[in-house]
Amino acid sequence: MGTVVIELTNRCSLSCGHWLAGRHGGGEMLPPAIFAVLVREAAGAGFGKFSFTGGEPTLHPQLGEILRMTYAAGCRFGMVTNGWTFPAINGKILAYADRLSHITLSLDGARRETHDALRGPGSFDRLMKAFSIGVATGIPFTVNMTVNARNRGELGEAAGLVQDLGGRGCGSGR
Ligand code: SF4
Repeated sequence: MGTVVIELTNRCSLSCGHWLAGRHGGGEMLPPAIFAVLVREAAGAGFGKFSFTGGEPTLHPQLGEILRMTYAAGCRFGMVTNGWTFPAINGKILAYADRLSHITLSLDGARRETHDALRGPGSFDRLMKAFSIGVATGIPFTVNMTVNARNRGELGEAAGLVQDLGGRGCGSGR
């Protein structure tokens, strides 16, 4: 079964150093009515999974409704997130946990100073909080890491960190 990758929004609360200008700084949200058509047609065409991305997909105000439609169509789902809003939205994900593939958290360094240099102050601590919620609630998570000159010396350290935190590997969230 194939995966459909959907950008739920181009809005984000962060402005990372590697963001794509004009793509992650908007305010557009995918209307649920359009998603209803998408999920129906995708499921009818044999696609069995949705991967939600953005922007920051957890900022979509109708995220719960979108997950409900995904669930009702019999599809699984995954999501890529920077983790900032995870304490507020993990309940929406848990409501459909039996169709959840995994959450992909964006990590940009094994050390706070490295990650925050790219994503902004407080980002690393927010991400660690999201990891701990994932472990406590049984939400499976993986990690994405954009390798760059600043963090390439921390790859092994980052893999060890994710393993220690209880991550289930590295992937694209798809
Ligand atoms: S957290 Fe992700 S979506 Fe937001 S600005 Fe950074 S790269 Fe873009």
